[in-house]
Amino acid sequence: MVRSRAGDIAQSEIRRNNLSRMLSELHLRGSLTRSELAASLRLNRSTVASLIAELAARGLVWERLRDKPAPQPTPGRPSPVVEICREGPAALALELSTDWIRAAVIGLGACVAVSVRKDLSLASSTPEQALDEAHDLVGSMLGRLDHGPRLAAIGVSAPGAVRAEDGYVYNAPNLGWRDVPLGSLIRSRFSDLGVPVFVGNDADLAACAEHMRGSGRGTADFICLWGEGGIGAGIVVGGRSLSGAAGYAGEVGHMTVDPDGAQCHCGSHGCWETKVGEEALLRRSGRDPNGGSAAVADLLEAAERGESGALAAMAESGRWLGIGIAGLVNVFNPSRVALGGLYARINPYARQALEHELGRRAMPAPGAMVELTTASLGADALLLGAAELALAPILRNPAIVPLSGDATVIISRRRARPPSYGWTLAPAEARR
Ligand SMILES: [Zn+2]
Repeated sequence: MVRSRAGDIAQSEIRRNNLSRMLSELHLRGSLTRSELAASLRLNRSTVASLIAELAARGLVWERLRDKPAPQPTPGRPSPVVEICREGPAALALELSTDWIRAAVIGLGACVAVSVRKDLSLASSTPEQALDEAHDLVGSMLGRLDHGPRLAAIGVSAPGAVRAEDGYVYNAPNLGWRDVPLGSLIRSRFSDLGVPVFVGNDADLAACAEHMRGSGRGTADFICLWGEGGIGAGIVVGGRSLSGAAGYAGEVGHMTVDPDGAQCHCGSHGCWETKVGEEALLRRSGRDPNGGSAAVADLLEAAERGESGALAAMAESGRWLGIGIAGLVNVFNPSRVALGGLYARINPYARQALEHELGRRAMPAPGAMVELTTASLGADALLLGAAELALAPILRNPAIVPLSGDATVIISRRRARPPSYGWTLAPAEARR
């Protein structure tokens, strides 16, 4: 029988999709037996065996016997578990924040091999100076590893409006950076690593990580508000990240809430950020608005002691948070909203005022169903999200990793796409 070329292409597309589903399942859920994989992917055992063999040949997964016997032994041979291979391809994750740089090597399955942090004010650095610092930090970090990681790509979290296509930063108001070709600057500063670079907005990446592994798990409509200096949002709609036409979506901090309000770093007046950002909070409490993370820590200690000025400042931030979140609830009808970064830390003191305002202003139906929570991955959300961005091409198509398992040359520099989160949801949970 002669098979048609179209039939061959369809078969290879089905196999590519099944490899992606299997690797993604292991990436999210950790160890699974062959039978568990067969059940969750709805595939027969021989297909599962063949897919595992291919992923193993590409150095992405391996099989081992369980450390302990299963609680209820089943007849026949013990079933080995399939796991992400820790020596497999990894991302170099970089976080550029207002007051620090962090770097980590993170593999599939969110395995963090090493992470480092250096405190410095990026607002007083040029992009080139910041990248020199980041390069030194990464060099010392990689020097601490016994074996050189198989770096596949660099994922970078930046606190600004980032063009997804090439990592161009149109505006990072809290760093004072405008029109910075960050992606190409990083490519040339880190050319010694010889891997492609993907840059994302910090709140989008935090939302990605929280949606996959943290407070947004199991939801298809989720908003993660992220505050460190400014405020941004990562918005997941129907299981997919909302990126907009070029990747700039989610700049909720620059919604106007007071047309005659104070000037914002973005150049406009009365943005939501001027009411709920770190500077506004510190100013209200009588502290230096540019005091950064040290001043915030001092404010939190004062609130802990019950100091009335600190508590009032946090309650006012909570009130303005509730006003903005009510608008987001009315527009997007999320089932869950998570408060991350600064907003997770002030949550105990701001929550009551926030809920009061949200209750007054959200429309009854979406307001009644939304669950308010705090981000659960803590400060690691940005680095984990940056790693997801860098590793997304492998998860979409594991066959790009050569059978030799050499991950250093596998990801092409074709147009970057933000990670798609559709596969994090079981079919019944996804609405489409
Ligand atoms: Zn603004």
